[in-house]
Amino acid sequence: MSVVALVPAAGQGVRLGGGRPKAFVELLGRTLLDRAVAGLKASGVVDTVVVMAPPDLLVEARREAPGAVVVTGGAERTDSVRCGLEAAGAVDGDLVLVHDAARPLTPVGVIAGVVEALRGGATAVIPVLPVVDTVKRVDGTRVLETVDRTDLRAVQTPQGFVARVLLDAYAVAEGAATDDAGLVERAGGTVTVVPGDARALKITTPFDLAVARALLEGS
Ligand code: C5P
Repeated sequence: MSVVALVPAAGQGVRLGGGRPKAFVELLGRTLLDRAVAGLKASGVVDTVVVMAPPDLLVEARREAPGAVVVTGGAERTDSVRCGLEAAGAVDGDLVLVHDAARPLTPVGVIAGVVEALRGGATAVIPVLPVVDTVKRVDGTRVLETVDRTDLRAVQTPQGFVARVLLDAYAVAEGAATDDAGLVERAGGTVTVVPGDARALKITTPFDLAVARALLEGS
């Protein structure tokens, strides 16, 4: 049972600025893609890495992720994961992780924890954190209600799947989804949670990049 990690890195990352696709923005001298792939390798639980990159950055992606299979991604993240799944050629019982290049500081323990839960019998696993802010539903500028946050969780990556479960979910998927487990849920599958980590933050804005820089400088 081999473990393949798909790394979506084909987004433009407009909210981050920086003049280049997000995965290729540098964080203290190393790109987000380089750091995300290095984390997967350092976990010791991943056999193969497949990176989905923008069509004009395939050569650069190969340089940033040596040893990885690099393929062209798609218009939406879901399309990119689909491209990665095709390239990976994972078979039924293999394990597939999907890990955003935009989460370059994910601790190896989170990656190993997802794989451990899969090996323990779960078929779809996501790392999560409790929601600490009060959450309200709004209609434009008007508050409609305060949502009970007790059962809410913020979801990170890597998300892990028994290959057949993810392949089947993608086979029936319609439209885009913000995460892969969402497609498994829609297809009727059971998704299990494991503890995430604040350091696995997603780099979306320049503020997030500054936080990541501060975390690295403090470590
Ligand atoms: O834009 P967002 O932060 O949600 O993207 C999450 C991850 O998905 C990033 O690593 C990004 O490069 C990737 N992505 C992709 N293909 C797209 C859009 C996003 O691989 N078309």
